[in-house]
Amino acid sequence: MRICVVGTGYVGLVAGAGFAEFGNDVVCADVDAGKIERLNRGEIPIYEPGLSPLVERGVKGERLRFTTDVAAAVADVDAVFVAVGTPPGPDGAADLSHVWDVARTVGQHASGFTVVVNKSTVPVGTADRVLALLREHGPGKDFAVVSNPEFLKEGDAVSDFMKPQRVIVGASDERAIRLLRQLYAPFTRTRDRLIVMEIRSAEVTKYACNSMLATRISFMNEIAALCARVGANVTDVRVGMGWDERIGPKFLFPGVGYGGSCFPKDVQAIIATAREHDMSLEILEAVERVNERQKRWLGEMVQQHFGGDLKGKVIGLWGLAFKPNTDDVREAPALTVARLLLEAGASLRLHDPEALDTFQVALPASDRVVYCAKSYLAAERADAICLVTEWPLYRSPDFQRLKQTMREPVLFDGRNLWDPEYVRELGFTYYSIGRP
Ligand code: NAD
Repeated sequence: MRICVVGTGYVGLVAGAGFAEFGNDVVCADVDAGKIERLNRGEIPIYEPGLSPLVERGVKGERLRFTTDVAAAVADVDAVFVAVGTPPGPDGAADLSHVWDVARTVGQHASGFTVVVNKSTVPVGTADRVLALLREHGPGKDFAVVSNPEFLKEGDAVSDFMKPQRVIVGASDERAIRLLRQLYAPFTRTRDRLIVMEIRSAEVTKYACNSMLATRISFMNEIAALCARVGANVTDVRVGMGWDERIGPKFLFPGVGYGGSCFPKDVQAIIATAREHDMSLEILEAVERVNERQKRWLGEMVQQHFGGDLKGKVIGLWGLAFKPNTDDVREAPALTVARLLLEAGASLRLHDPEALDTFQVALPASDRVVYCAKSYLAAERADAICLVTEWPLYRSPDFQRLKQTMREPVLFDGRNLWDPEYVRELGFTYYSIGRP
């Protein structure tokens, strides 16, 4: 099958390489010339485990190529996958300008029957508008629009894409449904879960999933706050809850709040969609409020411990990416923590295995912001360490070495990663979330 993927980011690049892996002829198009240049040089512009060999195989086999010429790329293909960004606008509603751009380009340049597949996360009703734009800019041409939301997780994107738990196809055109079934057949051989539904239902499904996951996180963060107040242990509560099959063990970990390029913007966008339809999503509005509070929790704990003023204090931050196994720092809680600590006067020493470069774009290095290539360097002469992102390498550090490296042995564990009893025995002052 001849496929064009427009938007070569976390989703588009993985999808393009994944489709090429099963023999399709794939062209990935992006307006970012720097990104395409790097890809054409054989560099992968993002950190995503397992992506590099997949891209390399596709390129070597001449099934995968990259271009900035979006018009030419969409001209002669069976399907165009739209995987451009849909960031939040000023009122929280998704900014769909990139999606409209692609629809206009496809309308003008497509030839023959073309299936336009929305992989970007877009509000309900977007497919209708895309179809209207295609017809306006390509009068007389034959198009079908499909909603095929993506559920991959950064850090596990390749395995999630190659072995999806389910594939959602929102479509009404039988030719388009057949094409999507054929395209996804190799991905769903053992997990035969391609679910066809109305376009609007598919669009809502994606937001409902992310909203539910965000809700679980904020819910557990509130339970953790209650545990702290009443002297209960949220870890025991979590385990006790997780064995209930109706609840399950996943997404029950309290932490420093959710971040990333999806949960915050998608929760805001679904709230905005509801408002446009004269209703309010009260649970999700609360989920957002709780999350905003939670992202400040770690920084406020540090301030409280040191009596408010952090002038002259050196704080080490471990983990900057919004979650482990990615270099993505969009809406990362570490940004909130870092800014709070800087405002209070602290100097920061920061470490992350993959996100030092991306974080530096948001928070440039200075005499008070020092980026460290090794985790123990970030602990040097530190008055405290804040663990923000639970990368595997932080799970079992050499605490003796850490204590010798630090000026004061104080740990703020934003992920409940360490054993309170053990680290206190070693002489650390230790704070975690919702545990006595
Ligand atoms: P991204 O920012 O990494 O990539 C988007 C790419 O689109 C960029 O490279 C940008 O240059 C390109 N682009 C923008 N306008 C363009 C245009 N007119 N023509 C060609 N290229 C254009 O974004 P992402 O994280 O891959 O997310 C893409 C979409 O997928 C979003 O709607 C997001 O919500 C959704 N999504 C993301 C994830 C994730 O984990 N990142 C998971 C599921 C769904």
